[in-house]
Amino acid sequence: MKVFSLSTLDSEPSDPKTFVGQARLTRMNDAADRPHTNVYRVAFEPGARTHWHTHTGPQLLQVIEGTCRYQKDGGAVREADVGDLIAIEPGERHWHGAGPDGPMTHVAINIDARTSWFEAVTDAQYAAS
Ligand code: MN
Repeated sequence: MKVFSLSTLDSEPSDPKTFVGQARLTRMNDAADRPHTNVYRVAFEPGARTHWHTHTGPQLLQVIEGTCRYQKDGGAVREADVGDLIAIEPGERHWHGAGPDGPMTHVAINIDARTSWFEAVTDAQYAAS
């Protein structure tokens, strides 16, 4: 058994090539232990969001703070609240981030899920809720 305490883990700022705005990523497991499952805590500042992207495997997002704004390509912009779990299918083009009025943190569980990144989510796309 290992405990990954948030206070002892390193976090890194989001990459501006793949995120709009500011977010911090904390890896919550050890990739060497479980190479096929990766768990991240991602803390988004208000208005921050990922670029459009896909994963090769399933991704589960659980909101643990604030309101999550997300969209599947071709669908409406939607919001999820604390405790909600968003399950993203392999290959679904999507984005996720904070709402405009406050920070949002989610835990992301990626299962055999390499990520392919695409273009930024524009302000007009983000606001189309
Ligand atoms: Mn995703």
